[in-house]
Amino acid sequence: MPSDPLVAILGGGQLGRMLALAGAPLGVRCRVLDPLRACSAGQVTEHVVGGYTDPQALARLADGADVVTYEWENVPVDSARALEGRLPVHPSCAALETAQDRLHERELFERLGIATPEWRAVDRPADLPSAIEAVGTPALLKARRGGYDGKGQVPIESPGDAERAWAALANDEGDVPGGAVLDAFVAFERELSVLGVRSTAGETGFYPLVQNTHRGGILRLSRAPARGVRDADVRTACDAAAAIMDELDYAGVLAVEFFDTGAGAGAGSSSRLIANEIAPRVHNSGHWTIEGAVTSQFENHLRAILGLPLGSCAARGHSAMVNAIGDLPRRAGVLAVPGAAMHVYGKDPRPGRKVGHVTITASEADELDALLERYTRVVG
Ligand code: AMP
Repeated sequence: MPSDPLVAILGGGQLGRMLALAGAPLGVRCRVLDPLRACSAGQVTEHVVGGYTDPQALARLADGADVVTYEWENVPVDSARALEGRLPVHPSCAALETAQDRLHERELFERLGIATPEWRAVDRPADLPSAIEAVGTPALLKARRGGYDGKGQVPIESPGDAERAWAALANDEGDVPGGAVLDAFVAFERELSVLGVRSTAGETGFYPLVQNTHRGGILRLSRAPARGVRDADVRTACDAAAAIMDELDYAGVLAVEFFDTGAGAGAGSSSRLIANEIAPRVHNSGHWTIEGAVTSQFENHLRAILGLPLGSCAARGHSAMVNAIGDLPRRAGVLAVPGAAMHVYGKDPRPGRKVGHVTITASEADELDALLERYTRVVG
């Protein structure tokens, strides 16, 4: 009998933990690499304690594995490339490299004809005046590399803010390593995301569009399927995800985040979605799929990278996913809400840190509203 497949995962956070938990019923084993001894995934699956650039740790991660994946998009590309010499790496190193650099991401969108906010590259402070003139104000200056959860970006209200904005992103030498991009500020109505999945055999699937609410740059609430989404927007989102997956020779789950500008609402069939960024991995806006979809994003990611048939991405009813940020809500309170499922990541509480999430599912949208209200009363 062939042995159970073994998936090597760069990163041992909560995404790695949920991948490992999804693999268990299928007999898919996961091994994570993370320098943190107490990392979230290491509490539920095999864990190599070591640095992402340590050749010995990478060799131990890969030993006997069938495929390599990652659950954190800032893993060093050189490490993924080194492993690629030995094993398939999915999603591709090209996808990882693109997602690590906002400039490359925007160039990819443009190459594929995907609408983005107006933007300009800013390599040095001297580039700022012409960039501000081109995109207008208000605008957002974003570091090309290393930003996440709203970090690494500064608003520019007027041309006079340019120097201060650059200084806010810069290191002690006054440089922004890797440079920056300047985005026109998009007055969006709401934020939506789509999750696509593509297997090594080329099979694809798309989850329903999700509405995401952020506060302080951190995702707080996802609602799926998003309400009031027009067919044209579903097509735009899925076509964009499909084009990106094709272009990057992609296998696994891909998230694409959009601004819904509402422009043209009720008028004609043109889409009003503008793409902001991609995540080449399972994504926080897809956590609802564990209870709320026929096949979770985690299981489909594993199926996709192992070349197994994909499962249906259809929603079961309506779901809301609420992140637990900083600390966890009281277990007994959460579980008293009908339809609520609690996910604890095994991380120490710390302000701004994602330590768990709760998904509430209901068969009707109105019922979900009522349960969400009840949940909010319980957790305060
Ligand atoms: P990002 O790091 O690009 O995902 O940005 C984090 C959050 O900042 C987004 O979820 C938006 O709420 C906001 N944001 C980013 N870019 C823009 C933009 N061009 N216009 C308006 N809001 C933005």
